Amino acid sequence: MSKVKMESYPAIIGGEKVNGKGTFEDLDPSTGQPFAEVARCGEAEINQAVEAAREAHEKTWRRTTPAERARVLHNIAELLRRDHEELARLESTDTGKPLTQTRADVAVAARYFEFYANTIESFYGDTIPTQQGVFAYTLREPFGVAAQIIPWNYPIQIGCRSVVPALATGNCCVMKPAEEAPLTPIKVGELALEAGLPPGVLNVVPGFGEEAGAPLSAHKGIDHLAFTGSLEVGQIVSRAAAENVIPVTLELGGKSPNVVFADADLDGAIPIVVNSIIQAAGQTCAAGSRLLVERRVHDEVLERVAERFKGIEIGPGLEDPDLGPIISEEQLERVDGYVQQGKGEAQLLAGGDRARGDRLGGGYFFEPTLFGGVSHSDRLAQEEVFGPVLVATPFDDPEEAAWMANATDYGLVAAVWTRDVSKAHHLAQEIRAGQVFVNTYGAGGGVELPFGGFKKSGHGREKGYEALYEYSQIKTVAIKY
Ligand code: NAD
Repeated sequence: MSKVKMESYPAIIGGEKVNGKGTFEDLDPSTGQPFAEVARCGEAEINQAVEAAREAHEKTWRRTTPAERARVLHNIAELLRRDHEELARLESTDTGKPLTQTRADVAVAARYFEFYANTIESFYGDTIPTQQGVFAYTLREPFGVAAQIIPWNYPIQIGCRSVVPALATGNCCVMKPAEEAPLTPIKVGELALEAGLPPGVLNVVPGFGEEAGAPLSAHKGIDHLAFTGSLEVGQIVSRAAAENVIPVTLELGGKSPNVVFADADLDGAIPIVVNSIIQAAGQTCAAGSRLLVERRVHDEVLERVAERFKGIEIGPGLEDPDLGPIISEEQLERVDGYVQQGKGEAQLLAGGDRARGDRLGGGYFFEPTLFGGVSHSDRLAQEEVFGPVLVATPFDDPEEAAWMANATDYGLVAAVWTRDVSKAHHLAQEIRAGQVFVNTYGAGGGVELPFGGFKKSGHGREKGYEALYEYSQIKTVAIKY
């Protein structure tokens, strides 16, 4: 049988398309079939990309004014909007996420460019009153070459989240997308060149973790590292960054709770609670993967959530269902492993198996799954499953709710559902998470809202004005006169 020719996606290094030491096949998780051929970067390409970024930084980018950088960033936002639908379809094919989701992701990616183009012009240093006869001030300077290692679940959104504030503050970037879903970050690199970003300012080097990610994170020529991914790899890249004494931003996993009190507006809460674990098939760092419910309404809430789970439409990303596939066979097996073990320990209330059907073909689909009666110390309540699997536990009072919300190693996002303002404030103070929502749930929130982890969910902040601090370093100048 003759092979169908697949579209190829080279790396972007120093403004050129580069094929690297070979290619790898990128699979569509909705079908299990390869559909694109991607440059397989290794140490040589990483060296080339870091050199290109260094050169661009010295020659052009660090000498630009915020207004000049803002102009290019606005141009890139416009091109993302021009190609919005094409990019959303590409992201849906690459990740399996429903089109409604990927359309939103592309819109958010464009917003990152606009937001940082708008804010960089008002990002100043200070003047500092000190001794008589001394004039002191601070400058905010870029680090130099900033590296970004990106996961597969939100490639365009997370890629832009990490790259754009770095570019706005005057850094040059080397971005490594995940091997499972590298295509939209490569497209962003192409659009950036078309929009007038000078060659070498943004380099995109797709490849495997150990072949491309490891040499990038350990490279002596990078000055800052932003990593978004698993705790295990986060620990590895942190060690590499420590070796080179460079700052690292870590955006890791989560086990985020929705805390539902009996006085909550349940009609408003339940669809959002469900969506928080269904979005991207539960493969969201900020997924609402734990449901803590006040005992008085516990059974009612679980029944209503189970009912909604049963009505969820599962299908290929491009058909825009409620729930798309898991990213790979390997991840599907991992999710299945947690669920099959859970069946012996907790009460299965919905789902519990791989989803099969004519429409689903060879794709990696899993049913939305709800477990009740999960103890806070169970593996299902402690570890990140990264699938459409929700685990529920009852609580009796606000103190117990806060304690349970905090009873994991993670601390990324939490939501509190109540009509009682005092309870809402109390829980918002007590919960150890980077974002706490009340009567809503934003997986990460808008581009303006600082985002990042407490505890093992990571450190450093992305999004919002905070990211400008994250990607710049302060220099103090004191002049005796
Ligand atoms: P992962 O850690 O397996 O991979 C993330 C990236 O690291 C990929 O680009 C991969 O190629 C690279 N990598 C793998 N091994 C490496 C190594 N030895 N050295 C350097 N780089 C290496 O994570 P994943 O499976 O792609 O993503 C899922 C995880 O990411 C989940 O734990 C999820 O919670 C987390 N995540 C966190 C956030 C956040 O903002 N906090 C967002 C999305 C995903």
